[in-house]
Amino acid sequence: MEAATVTELKREYAVRDPATGEEVGRYPLMGRDEVDRAVKRAREAFANWKNSSFKERKRIFLRAAQIIAENAEDYADRIARENGKTRTDAMLADLFPAADLFKYYAKKGEAFLSPVRVSGSILLPGRRAYYVFEPRGVVGAIAPWNYPFSLSAGPVISAVMAGNAVVLKPSSQTTDAGLIVKEILDKAGLPEGVVQVVTGNGAITGQALIEHPDLDMLFFTGSTAIGRQVNIKAAERLIPAVMELGGKDVAIVTKNADLDRAANGVAFGAFTNCGQTCIGTELILVDRAVYEPFVAKLTAVTKRLKTGKRPGQIGSMTMAEQLRIVEDQVKDAKEKGARVVTGGEREPGPGMFFRPTLFLDTTPDMKVRKDETFGPLKPVIPFDGIDEAIEIANSTEYGLSGAVFTRDLVEGRLIASRLKTGSVNINDVLITYAAPSLPFGGAKHSGVGRYHGKMGLRAFTDVKSITEFNWPLKREPYWYPLPENADKVAAAALRAFFIPGILNRIKGIGAAAREIIRAIKSLKKGEA
Ligand code: NAD
Repeated sequence: MEAATVTELKREYAVRDPATGEEVGRYPLMGRDEVDRAVKRAREAFANWKNSSFKERKRIFLRAAQIIAENAEDYADRIARENGKTRTDAMLADLFPAADLFKYYAKKGEAFLSPVRVSGSILLPGRRAYYVFEPRGVVGAIAPWNYPFSLSAGPVISAVMAGNAVVLKPSSQTTDAGLIVKEILDKAGLPEGVVQVVTGNGAITGQALIEHPDLDMLFFTGSTAIGRQVNIKAAERLIPAVMELGGKDVAIVTKNADLDRAANGVAFGAFTNCGQTCIGTELILVDRAVYEPFVAKLTAVTKRLKTGKRPGQIGSMTMAEQLRIVEDQVKDAKEKGARVVTGGEREPGPGMFFRPTLFLDTTPDMKVRKDETFGPLKPVIPFDGIDEAIEIANSTEYGLSGAVFTRDLVEGRLIASRLKTGSVNINDVLITYAAPSLPFGGAKHSGVGRYHGKMGLRAFTDVKSITEFNWPLKREPYWYPLPENADKVAAAALRAFFIPGILNRIKGIGAAAREIIRAIKSLKKGEA
């Protein structure tokens, strides 16, 4: 879903500031030829980059983190301008996590990607066995508009640290955020061509990228509907694909919660970035025993939130289409009997500011309960007993993240274990994404695969297993020619190794020894 206006003839598009409607950028709408050129340049650059030393990667990454910090004001302005968010949100949730991920992989990348020695098996006597991580090649990365810098930088940082080249397609609405990622890496000394940015919308530029025959991996962040199409394209080519998709996350407030922390946390999880956060709180589930005091506290916190572009305010929604979905969900909920306790409408004037909204008395058939909202519109729902809360939480098609508020950590862990999601925060919201050491991704229709952390970096590699053997043996006993009783030797060995109990083992070894002697004799006879 993209708002940028496309002038087909000129093959360019304009981007408008969602908060003012002013034009803030104009970019080429790239088609198959430009995408093909970018992939070719990336392929050429990959030939050298894959052999770059970890020392060089580390130097570039530390420099990149420093460049982000030195230019934070300028970058935050540019990100906020095309996205509609506040500068503060851009600093905290776009620039900070990206700088942190640069630094984290600068420090840990080499250790995570060094060969791993493993212990042998009975089939590996005398061998050295290990596996190595090799870059996949050229990665196509597609990013959304909600955290346009962080979610463009994340896959690029991971792919490049693992020795790949990348072609990045940011959302057309937030093209500049993708260009900033490249700008930083260029300034930090990344060789030309390792990261390319293709600008344009999903239907033309995105489609050309996912259909390009010379990609080795796809990394997609966006809606579940488009993610499914991207994953099908990857499957047709049999290339790996990581999918970071939509969500309908819950925050569960139990009767053991610190209600002040819960109200403040839920309000942040629900309304930060104007509610346009994949791992943002969408449904607020509250134990009926504390429902009334909690609603009073949450309403008070929410009423204090003001829309606007100053620090601490709730910025503009980014996309006209997303605003339409929010307004449609408000209408649907009201028609079906839900009650607005605060908010419920758009601010007058230019821009797409929408008041932070809480709904009570919602029912499961309402769109706001079933569909991803991705806006500042949140139902508060009472539950009777944890089973009911879990049932509501797990009943959606999604499984991205979730939050539990309770002072009883045993209860918190139990609830966390029962949520079918890619992450859970206990007495917290959103924070798993911000920790670069934690794998990030979704369950069910919220995604496939993980990034961040050790396993997330390794996802950008092909794993190669290697054995080495160098004893002066002319052949192995199970190579040709095999003795007549080879099956009996194998059966005795299976008994000796896998049937438990010392007697069975002794019997098995005895039988194996007899069969081996027979085998040697039969082989000698064969040679004679
Ligand atoms: P979207 O799926 O509309 O677009 C995402 C990207 O895909 C954009 O760059 C778009 O240009 C591109 N695209 C669109 N059609 C394409 C096609 N046919 N081929 C190739 N590329 C195409 O999503 P959006 O509206 O930008 O972002 C909002 C959605 O993203 C929400 O559902 C949200 O939950 C999800 N999201 C998920 C995560 C996560 O980490 N799981 C993070 C942020 C956002």
